[in-house]
Amino acid sequence: MQRYSMEMDDETKKPSFWFNVDYPTNIVKLHRDNCIHCSPEPSKFKKVNRLDRNGGWMEFSSAQDAKEYYEEKEADKVWLPCKVCKPLVSKPKRHGS
Ligand SMILES: [Zn+2]
Repeated sequence: MQRYSMEMDDETKKPSFWFNVDYPTNIVKLHRDNCIHCSPEPSKFKKVNRLDRNGGWMEFSSAQDAKEYYEEKEADKVWLPCKVCKPLVSKPKRHGS
């Protein structure tokens, strides 16, 4: 089923997770896209969905995908899932609307 992805508050959209690779601090942080600490914005040496000199923000559709990417590509960094949005804890499903 095709959907327009213009609406940012569409609750049916797939969950996104953002993986913040930071080379200067050697830390990889994982956030949910609605986390207050999640700010995937490109800067001079840091890009979005692309790694630059200081790292970058990578988007994943699941925390598991992000973890696998980390283990494969960035395993020498410190893995630090965010303590605020707890990306590795699955949220209880809500019923009704
Ligand atoms: Zn977070």
